[in-house]
Amino acid sequence: MTEYKIALMQGDGIGPELTAATLKVLDAAQKKYGVKLTMVPAEAGDAVLKASGQALPADTLETIKSSHACLKGPVGETAADVIVKLRLIFDLYSNIRPLKAYPHAPVASPNIDMIFVRENTEDVYKGQEFTIGNDTTVCLRVITRQNCERIAKKAFETARLRNGKKKVTAIHKANVMRVTDGLFKKVCAEVAKQYPDIAYNDMYVDSASMHLIRKPEDFDVLCTCNMFGDILSDEAAQLIGGLGMAPGANIGDNFALFEPIHGCAPDIAGKHIANPISMILSAKMLLDWLGERYGDQNCIKAAVAIEAATIKTLASGTVVPDLGGEASTESMAEAIASAI
Ligand code: ATP
Repeated sequence: MTEYKIALMQGDGIGPELTAATLKVLDAAQKKYGVKLTMVPAEAGDAVLKASGQALPADTLETIKSSHACLKGPVGETAADVIVKLRLIFDLYSNIRPLKAYPHAPVASPNIDMIFVRENTEDVYKGQEFTIGNDTTVCLRVITRQNCERIAKKAFETARLRNGKKKVTAIHKANVMRVTDGLFKKVCAEVAKQYPDIAYNDMYVDSASMHLIRKPEDFDVLCTCNMFGDILSDEAAQLIGGLGMAPGANIGDNFALFEPIHGCAPDIAGKHIANPISMILSAKMLLDWLGERYGDQNCIKAAVAIEAATIKTLASGTVVPDLGGEASTESMAEAIASAI
């Protein structure tokens, strides 16, 4: 049995609750399918900054570097010093956010099955902000051909591999940001020509935000630059039962980090009502990735089982208040673990 070393970051706010819940589910899946994940603590975030003076300490970085992958809970105010940095350090250029309507979840339409493929390393997230004089501030938006090309390719490969509508929609605001989004739009259209089996269209971001509410089942793969993908995926998560239903993966060519798409939700931290599905399905994505990268069928089987057990638990009604039930974060995770 292959042993995988996984750097585990609990994060802040609801992060520790979600992490404990997810470990219960992972334990059940590992036992049943003969997978061995060795979790190594790699802490970062607000609490770590307070305790050590650094949001992302050097030893945390070393632990992550020596791991097969990282599983991460949400961090709070220090997100820009933790996750935005990790994406750059490990060149995790694609942020994959699947949003699927699961049976028995409060969804806007039962046919929603979309996936955001969001560029993860540039745009306004480069942190190039300046003050000029007293009252003028400037933020630089960086868009490069190299990153447009690799995110567009990732979007088309994703559309080809998944069991969806075989369609990519590129989202931009090229009528206003003619140079930066002009390049993004142009490169997406060029890459589309290499994938004649995949339908392609593009949309302005304002129109896309409206269309997501009006006809969400129309979308398959949404290819976006960094900021629009961040905003639109939060919006779309509400269509499938809220941010607690939304897992995510940050994937590069050599490493990957898995985390819910939401923040650390300080308003509900410690109340034991957070929906753990976002992190449980992020762990499922981790198993899928390990399975593909290392050709390990046991990981793939464990991933399939986690998703099936989640659906079974949604049907059973043992769910958190967000989903219409009265279960706690822990008891919902226990129900998913025993369904495995
Ligand atoms: P960030 O900018 O770091 O993504 P945010 O400001 O968008 O954070 P979140 O922490 O993501 O804020 O929370 C937004 C809302 O969604 C809050 O009301 C929060 O309670 C809710 N929320 C987030 N995650 C969950 C979850 N797993 N279960 C239930 N509610 C959640």
